[in-house]
Amino acid sequence: MVSVYPCDVHGARIRGALEGLRVSLVLKSVSYSRRLRLCPTDLDELLKTHSQEWLELTDDGLVPEYTVCCSCEKPLGKFPNRGDAYVYVWRRRSPQQEFYAVYCIGCGDRLIRDFRLEEQPPYQPRA
Ligand SMILES: [Zn+2]
Ligand SMILES: [Zn+2]
Repeated sequence: MVSVYPCDVHGARIRGALEGLRVSLVLKSVSYSRRLRLCPTDLDELLKTHSQEWLELTDDGLVPEYTVCCSCEKPLGKFPNRGDAYVYVWRRRSPQQEFYAVYCIGCGDRLIRDFRLEEQPPYQPRA
């Protein structure tokens, strides 16, 4: 059995199932998001690369009050001049994991480019 879709990092289908990751970022009141399908190796690699930046959230739902950017450690601007990022990870045979990070404007822009995040339509409450 091979995966239906190619891995979004190395671009080929794999033997077995792909795992998934969603990156969501709110920067200057605009939401960006993208879901990636990844092979287990590339997902491991990606999580390792970002392990200093992304804090895994536990069940208590509490997030730390960061005052500096999780990537470059510059002091953060006042809301909304900062980026709040949530990362969800789905792996086979594991419960969903959730990570959190806060970015300055420059690093938030870089995250958008690195993950090719797509701008989300503004939230429209239903009439
Ligand atoms: Zn891959
Ligand atoms: Zn930064």
